[in-house]
Amino acid sequence: MERHLTEEEIALYVEELELKKQERLPEAILDHVQECLECKMEIVEVWELIEEQEAH
Ligand SMILES: [Zn+2]
Repeated sequence: MERHLTEEEIALYVEELELKKQERLPEAILDHVQECLECKMEIVEVWELIEEQEAH
């Protein structure tokens, strides 16, 4: 995948990550995240935001 993930795709990724079902994600998304630090960072950011909300 040549483009970066959209906000929607990042949200979806985090959702599946939380359920430990990342393998359900489209391969194009998984491949891109593996290669793209930028998108990875964004996923981590969203992930941490959700974790924080859940902790409170
Ligand atoms: Zn990217």
